[in-house]
Amino acid sequence: MKFELATFNRNVLDQELLVDLKNVDSILKDQGRVLTYRSYNELGKYSSSTIAARFGSWNDGLQRACLIPGEEKNVSIEDLFDNLKLVWIAKGRQPVYRDMSKAPSKYTASIYNDRFEGWRNALENFVATVDQEHDELVCYEVEIKKSNGTKRTKREPSLALRFLVLKRDRFRCVACGRSPALVSGLVLEIDHITAWANGGETIEENLQSLCFDCNRGKGTT
Ligand SMILES: [Zn+2]
Repeated sequence: MKFELATFNRNVLDQELLVDLKNVDSILKDQGRVLTYRSYNELGKYSSSTIAARFGSWNDGLQRACLIPGEEKNVSIEDLFDNLKLVWIAKGRQPVYRDMSKAPSKYTASIYNDRFEGWRNALENFVATVDQEHDELVCYEVEIKKSNGTKRTKREPSLALRFLVLKRDRFRCVACGRSPALVSGLVLEIDHITAWANGGETIEENLQSLCFDCNRGKGTT
């Protein structure tokens, strides 16, 4: 039997990931396309999130494979803003330019720069969109309340609603007050104040931000 260290297996797997990145890159080049988070998901043996998790970020994975990050040309504004929301939620604060080129961001800061002619402009456009979504959600919630229980919301809040509730709670756990901005790795979740199973709707006023621990009753307060 061959003697192998556990870490050796892990190293082999790193190597396999990098080899696959290179393979997919050359397939895409033949098709006149570029290797991106999205195109790797389509053609890779593994997922882009596996690459990102393994190497710290998607771009770090590319760097390890000696590849240059491809610029996503066809990504929609909606995807860019959804990505911005996810980064904002994970950070618990307004992302800065360099945050966008690291996990959990899927798109580099330069994409935002190019698309909106500057990072500041990207943020301003983003805020305007979030405000508009807020107005739409308010209208929807009025409709839900008027229906007196004949129309029910889905259990899972949309990303727009999650962002709105977290923004309202200043990206802090309403129970213990902790925020990912100060406690790195802290995960905020959206909790139904009246449980959805008991008729509580997925609307802003019935939702609150709780950290992972408080949401499971293991909080410090
Ligand atoms: Zn908490």
